[in-house]
Amino acid sequence: MAKIMAVNAGSSSLKFQLIGMPEETVITTGIVERIGMKDSVFTIKVNGEKIQQMFDIDNHAVATKLVLDKLIELGVIQSFDEIEGVGHRVVHGADVLTESVLITDKEIAILEELVDLAPLHLIPNLTGIKAFKEILPTVKQVAVFDTAFHAHMPEEAYMYAVPYDWYERHAVRKYGFHGTSHKYVSERVAVLMGKEPKDVNVVVCHLGNGASICAVKGGVSIDTSMGFTPLEGIPMGTRSGNIDPAVIEYMMVKKGKSAREITAILNKQSGYLGVSGVSSDSRDLWDAANRGNARARLALDVQAKRIADYVASYHCYVGGADAIVFTAGIGENAPSTRSIICARLTALGVAIDEAKNECRGVERLISTPDSKIQVWVVPTNEEVMIARDTVRLIHA
Ligand code: ADP
Repeated sequence: MAKIMAVNAGSSSLKFQLIGMPEETVITTGIVERIGMKDSVFTIKVNGEKIQQMFDIDNHAVATKLVLDKLIELGVIQSFDEIEGVGHRVVHGADVLTESVLITDKEIAILEELVDLAPLHLIPNLTGIKAFKEILPTVKQVAVFDTAFHAHMPEEAYMYAVPYDWYERHAVRKYGFHGTSHKYVSERVAVLMGKEPKDVNVVVCHLGNGASICAVKGGVSIDTSMGFTPLEGIPMGTRSGNIDPAVIEYMMVKKGKSAREITAILNKQSGYLGVSGVSSDSRDLWDAANRGNARARLALDVQAKRIADYVASYHCYVGGADAIVFTAGIGENAPSTRSIICARLTALGVAIDEAKNECRGVERLISTPDSKIQVWVVPTNEEVMIARDTVRLIHA
């Protein structure tokens, strides 16, 4: 069995899964959190048992070494030679790296050029790649991009109506994110429906802390709600999603803040958190709403309305959706959120069975037999997509 490490290096975390291929079995999974802070936390699941330890971990290189050493110490592997490939989730490939690639110095140089497009994500992604390269110099590494699935959107979907020079000279266009998840979920629902991806049109609602909707026509992403950055689209845990761009300058003047500061507020203090003043977490919001907190309920309704707007519009854009699919933390685990979204889609003939909808983290058809569009819950699995592409490319 080939063992592939799927890695997701965030700004202060390093998530990993060791996956046995081609069986696609999860051998172990874990995370290092609070990298660069005191009391970093290392968590790993071995044989169903969760082990948690605290360390001081200064940077991603130290975290990577710790993870690999722990795999040996805990008997998950006997030697590093067992790891055949490492696949990295990389947030942005822009329109240069439009599909998964083997990482050489050339790809690293390209990613370094792209850092400006997504500094918060690309810098840690690069640090993770370099750390694994240093410790496992002979093991092939692959980059799997969040943007890749959206690389074939039509021009009319990715162009913003701004001066053309902004696009040509500064690469301002819609890129879209969560592509690996949208691809997995749209392919998986086709299988569950007994069809080929090329034969189904799907609207995927990836609803986690970050959230985006994707229009998938015959297996291809033709539009998605996130844009130049992951700030565009629907309201999220702490992100505003779409607003009138004129609000930015208006609030800069009112608050005496810079564009950078206002953008940070739109990224970190808006969405669920901003509207409710309660929390960015959907569980807290539902708890508060159920106790009568009107602003918590408003935050949920604002988001549900915008999601329904996208779903309805993408239903038209794909030429009639065969399925609407919910995935990610909220999409998989929050029946109430699915319910208030679907209630806004009755004009499309969408009807869900509330008893079937009462499920968490499972693959399930939740629409009624006479619903005009099927509604599914499909847990996402970005790691398995990373492992599949890694195996394919290291053997190519
Ligand atoms: P990300 O990967 O973007 O950080 P996740 O996909 O992990 O986010 O989703 C996090 C969201 O999922 C949080 O808002 C959390 O409240 C929600 N969530 C997780 N489990 C549940 C649950 N059992 N019920 C409701 N919401 C849940």
